Amino acid sequence: MAEDNSKRTDVNELGEFGLIDHLTESVRIHHDNTIKGIGDDAAVLDNGADYRLISTDCLVEGIHFDLAYTPLKHLGYKAIAVNLSDIYAMNGFPEQVTVSIAISNRFSVEALEELYKGIRTACNNYKVDLIGGDTTSSPRGLFISVTAIGRVDKDKITYRSTAKKGDLLCVSGNLGAAYLGLQILEREKQIFQSIKGGLQPDLEDQQYLISRQLKPEARFDMIELFHKAELVPTAMIDISDGLASEIFHLCKQSNVGVILEESGVPIHPDAEKKSIDFGIDPITSALSGGEDYELLFTIDVKDIDKVKYLPDIYIAGEIVPKEDGIKLHTKGGNIHDIKAQGWVHF
Ligand code: ADP
Ligand code: MG
Repeated sequence: MAEDNSKRTDVNELGEFGLIDHLTESVRIHHDNTIKGIGDDAAVLDNGADYRLISTDCLVEGIHFDLAYTPLKHLGYKAIAVNLSDIYAMNGFPEQVTVSIAISNRFSVEALEELYKGIRTACNNYKVDLIGGDTTSSPRGLFISVTAIGRVDKDKITYRSTAKKGDLLCVSGNLGAAYLGLQILEREKQIFQSIKGGLQPDLEDQQYLISRQLKPEARFDMIELFHKAELVPTAMIDISDGLASEIFHLCKQSNVGVILEESGVPIHPDAEKKSIDFGIDPITSALSGGEDYELLFTIDVKDIDKVKYLPDIYIAGEIVPKEDGIKLHTKGGNIHDIKAQGWVHF
């Protein structure tokens, strides 16, 4: 590896987003049709009559998924769904995907057929065409990279950077469940491994939380609702890393602050109960959990009548001037800073 050994900075010093900023700060745009490059859920290209949207994501075994409890069929489905979520987050519709995989000799043809069953099911459900990809070997483990390509009318494009003071902060569904599903699966894996011969865990009453982790759906139905209601959110981002992290991206890029109402953050009763069982404040699971793949968006107050009667839209806060900060108004009436890493320190 060509690396100047005189200085070595650990990537952890910058963190994921610091690293992206650092590596890409001097990237130049050479083409007029590149409307938005790095920095949103998808890149935006001028396509003449409309905009083309492109987004890519990479899933790595041992980091993003554990095959001890992730059926390959579900993994294939999830790999597609989470990528499409980034296209919906621009208020657009995906049309094509490419899928690249790197596999070790641990994987049989039958195992990869399972993965592709899930990919096919997702492509059929979301009506996207699998149009290409790449297949290569890996020394160990499975890597999946998906690129999603979509389309949006120019007057409907919704960036992260255009929320403004007074807008209402909304979310499309309950948060924290996928994280708690993951905690259940991790715990069961450990119990399973510690008992010789293994005991099949009874996960019946935890189905909802586990399905939110293993079988997430991207919210295409929301985008259809927006279009039907002629509602264009003022800004939008999908919730992949947790509500707090996405709020930070939205506020930073829009140059605004927010006051989030704890009482306005939707949390499923199963998630609430399980969170308390695990000794985690439910609002912390919602703020820091991640992988919910709901949409976080802002609307102009003049559009409140349009959202009032739409299902599955929760008003969770209000956009305030940047100087007012990024705050959580708790059910107990206290105001706390929401921390950038997604953790609230009470
Ligand atoms: P999301 O969570 O919505 O997928 P990310 O946080 O992964 O978005 O990425 C934020 C932005 O940074 C996106 O515009 C993405 O395309 C860009 N990006 C991420 N990694 C890289 C990279 N290695 N090189 C160039 N751009 C990158
Ligand atoms: Mg995203």
